[in-house]
Amino acid sequence: MYTVLLVDPSPTRDVLAERLELQGYRVVSTSDAAKGAHLALSAPPAIIIADLWMPGISGIQLCRLLRSEPATEHVPIILRGPEQSGRDRFWAERAGAIAYVGRGSMGDLVRALNQALAAAPPQADGFFTQLGGGELDLRERIAAQLDSALFDSVIASEIRALGVCGTFDRLFDTLSQFVVRVAGYRWLAVHSFQPERFAVHAHPAHRQAAEIEARAALRVCSDVPAMFVEDEDAADEATGSTPLFEAITMGADTLGTIAMGARAPVAGVHGAHEADLMRVIARELGGPIRIATLMEESNRLAMIDPLTGLLNRRAFIAAMERQIALLERHGEGFCLLLLDVDHFKNLNDQHGHATGDAVLMHLGVTLPACVRRSDVVGRWGGEEFVIALTIQDPTRAAARAETIRQAIANIVVRDSTGAPVEVTASIGVAAAEFGDSVEQLVERADKAMYAAKSAGRNNVTLHPGTPPALQARPAQVH
Ligand code: GH3
Ligand code: MG
Ligand code: MG
Repeated sequence: MYTVLLVDPSPTRDVLAERLELQGYRVVSTSDAAKGAHLALSAPPAIIIADLWMPGISGIQLCRLLRSEPATEHVPIILRGPEQSGRDRFWAERAGAIAYVGRGSMGDLVRALNQALAAAPPQADGFFTQLGGGELDLRERIAAQLDSALFDSVIASEIRALGVCGTFDRLFDTLSQFVVRVAGYRWLAVHSFQPERFAVHAHPAHRQAAEIEARAALRVCSDVPAMFVEDEDAADEATGSTPLFEAITMGADTLGTIAMGARAPVAGVHGAHEADLMRVIARELGGPIRIATLMEESNRLAMIDPLTGLLNRRAFIAAMERQIALLERHGEGFCLLLLDVDHFKNLNDQHGHATGDAVLMHLGVTLPACVRRSDVVGRWGGEEFVIALTIQDPTRAAARAETIRQAIANIVVRDSTGAPVEVTASIGVAAAEFGDSVEQLVERADKAMYAAKSAGRNNVTLHPGTPPALQARPAQVH
């Protein structure tokens, strides 16, 4: 015989109790919610029926409390409330009720009861909770439980808000600033799988050790570079507890992992708080990581020319605007090369468009290989390419252009018949000057390129107006 605990302050309680006894249940009933909680915890019944709105302790609070206590976490709870209230139904289900039944319908209640017991027959483990201070203890437990649910939900919303960060690096930086305030760790590390990224936050004095510990905890290979956030917010402690570890999931996918090098436990304070925090973070972080990596990828794709993998015209113009700003602010000069493949129309006509594309793809590899990492290479359009060289002296820039010209002439491409394809290019060189706009600089490089064409192609021409070195900024006239 199953015991039903009925917690219901309404006058119909006895009628309901009788009806349930008729169904073959043993009924323990009370009109007082606090008493109901005591009864449930000290002698867990097979099932509990409680009213949603009771004086003192609500059915929702009772439900959440009993769900969180080991003695009653498996005991199904049916909540009763207003017939048509979607909000109450939602809230009851969220609180962990197995069913929500309208107050008026005795038939629905009996059906829900039978179904719940058939689905999860009661466990005979005899577990019970001894409440210490009676009513006070109960209220403290409810308050603590509410507090921890609220804490969870605030942490969760903070983590979800990281979705606006736009890049993985910014996301991690913001995450660490927030988590270190809540948890006070030695280090925090995140490893995202696709694309593979690894970030660590630690105190500057323990950077190396933290990286080693974090790599070991997250199993990150040494060839994956670490993005480091260093500041004094992380604890200045060399050792601590064993790292906490969680998988970052989104639906069925595991997007990455997170680990925390917690501080050594202080007497009386257990690590449970950090472990709970890590669980909430790991549960919520998948969405923001996915958004950040998608945004990074879409920004990257918006900058790249798909055929050659070089910057497209828009991204190159943006890079040149930054270079011009550096020139204006710090006097850092640079030179622009504009390169046009010779007789490319003929090349297409003779060898086919696919071979033309193959030539452009080769240039996408050859050009970056000829310049320094600080130089910027782009596809201006069609068979025209642009290179911003961080070289101030135009003569030296022209010498670099000559190296590039030779490298292009040495490109080996064969068409579909196996016939070799000759590739040459004409290159115009112009040095940036104070007060230049991007258009003015490109126009000078373009003129020089046309001069190279007129001079017979396959050569480098310096813009005639280009001074041997950057002229001093003209005096400002006000
Ligand atoms: P010049 O030596 O004077 O530069 O002669 P050219 O034939 O290279 O110059 P023109 O501007 O007349 O021709 C450029 C050709 O480049 C025309 C166009 O069909 C071809 N082209 C532009 N974009 C692509 C591309 O993405 N792939 C291929 N295969 N051809 C392209
Ligand atoms: Mg052209
Ligand atoms: Mg051409």
